[in-house]
Amino acid sequence: MNESERERSEIIKKEGDSMRGARDIGIEVNPPKEVCDDKNCPFHGELPVRGQILEGVVVSDKMQKTVVVEHYYLKKIRKYMRYEKRKSKIHAHNPPCIAAKKGDVVKIAECRPLSKTKSFVVVEVLRRAS
Ligand SMILES: [Zn+2]
Repeated sequence: MNESERERSEIIKKEGDSMRGARDIGIEVNPPKEVCDDKNCPFHGELPVRGQILEGVVVSDKMQKTVVVEHYYLKKIRKYMRYEKRKSKIHAHNPPCIAAKKGDVVKIAECRPLSKTKSFVVVEVLRRAS
């Protein structure tokens, strides 16, 4: 391969990256249409996601790039052989390309700790608050 061929193949490689836009993060989600330059974005930055994947409702979007997600789950009570409904509030990173708002139903994925209380990231908005 001579000099010009190598240059061309590098250009093609770069174009391929930018055309794909969002990185494949390894879980089945629709990647966001916008592009951002947040380094803690799983699609356009360098944040690996692994572990739990949960769904919940955004109850607060007042912080910068962070939302509070309320997650409902069932816990089994053995004594009564029944389930009780429980909820937890989880702080999740909200990358600018997704920009989840209060009332949105979102999918969040576990990642490394981003701050003292934040180790989840919003990966998809399932239903926008109308
Ligand atoms: Zn992004």
